[in-house]
Amino acid sequence: MGKVKTIKKTAEKKVPLTGMMENVMKQFDKAADRINLHPNIKKILSITNNEILVNFPVKMDNGDVEIFTGYRVQHNGALGPYKGGLRYHPTVDLDAARALAMWMTWKSSLAGLPYGGGKGGIKIDPTKYSQSELERITRRFTFALADNIGPEHDIPAPDVNTNSQTMAWIADTYMSTRPPAQRSANQHVVTGKPDGSGGLEGRDRATGFGVYLTIKFWAEKKGIDLNGKKYIVQGFGNVGYWASHFLEKDGAKLVGVQDAFGSIQNQKGISVEDLFNYSSATKSIVGFANSNAVEADEFFAIDCDICIPAALGNQITKENAPKIKAKLIAEGANGPTNVEGENILLERDITIIPDILCNSGGVIGSYFEWLQNRSGEVWHLEEVMDKLENKLKGSFNKVFDYAVREDIDMRTAAFCIAIERIERAYVQRGIFP
Ligand code: NAD
Repeated sequence: MGKVKTIKKTAEKKVPLTGMMENVMKQFDKAADRINLHPNIKKILSITNNEILVNFPVKMDNGDVEIFTGYRVQHNGALGPYKGGLRYHPTVDLDAARALAMWMTWKSSLAGLPYGGGKGGIKIDPTKYSQSELERITRRFTFALADNIGPEHDIPAPDVNTNSQTMAWIADTYMSTRPPAQRSANQHVVTGKPDGSGGLEGRDRATGFGVYLTIKFWAEKKGIDLNGKKYIVQGFGNVGYWASHFLEKDGAKLVGVQDAFGSIQNQKGISVEDLFNYSSATKSIVGFANSNAVEADEFFAIDCDICIPAALGNQITKENAPKIKAKLIAEGANGPTNVEGENILLERDITIIPDILCNSGGVIGSYFEWLQNRSGEVWHLEEVMDKLENKLKGSFNKVFDYAVREDIDMRTAAFCIAIERIERAYVQRGIFP
């Protein structure tokens, strides 16, 4: 199959991220009602603890100064320090950061971690800036956040358009601005750092590996062999690539991919590693040789068994949910399915492995990195992957069994388990003063 017409789209046009908070609140209310969450605790969990908005100036390569707006929202810290990613994207705003911070609270709780939920980022299209501009933007953002983050207070990690390099700049800036005697004790202010700078071997693949594992666990429960099963992936970044990498090893066949610039398909299969090499060089999957271009609106209608949304929120909606062919949705992204879309999928008997379980390998990997930094230990890849698999298997089984026992969908089951853990902490401690 040769290279065919390219269909371009822009990320800005396609992403209706508004209403993310409405979405997470509906999910929360559904579970809270089910477990009869005490109204006082419901009040506390329905609102964020802290919302930090910073406007900060940065000198551009040409000498001009630009002002950027950054956010950090800390939803709830009942279980421990706030934890969650930093995103660099034009859609970053308070509504998105609040919703994403809330999802982090449930995710950390479900995974049994000693963390609360936080999220943030900068409203920026990073493709418009040079590497040195991005470095100065990141360092100045870190400086502006000042004491609102910290290794025992709020610990950011990578998310959309941020990576281990971004985390290395944050760690270095944070450590450089502490008193000398405290500098080296602060490297766990962020996780997702490069291997050589306090990072965890395997943190790069932790989220995608976790997505793959939850699919594998589900297939085992259902007696399904992944060999030959067809899957599509929206977003071929950190999460989408690594999930595909592991699925391909089990013989599953990648038949469709979408990124911010376009969509491709090939029912005979797309080589994950060839596509990775191609998209690393060209910064997009568009134009990959062994594929046909697909209209953006038709992407979710591609014939397949498994669909992995691994890009942004609110991608599966009432418009495209009726066309989905997959029998399983594995949510690599945070909040990719809105409530209306989800209702249609559930009516159609399509299973959803919810984001707070499916992509929790990332925060579990971050927890391992944080522990490693705090104790001065160095863990190796095999050990990390084994620990991750054990921990995820425990979470998956808890959610799956709860859903079967209560005859409810896996998202509601996951939310119930997560909220019950936080409720217990409030009941035990009471409310100050
Ligand atoms: P990334 O920046 O590495 O990759 C994002 C991918 O999504 C890119 O391929 C990009 O082209 C694509 N994309 C962007 N806008 C799109 C659009 N409008 N339509 C289709 N594709 C689009 O980001 P990532 O780290 O892989 O994160 C992806 C998702 O996974 C996000 O929702 C993030 O919150 C979630 N997540 C990430 C981690 C992590 O450890 N990185 C952990 C948990 C959850």
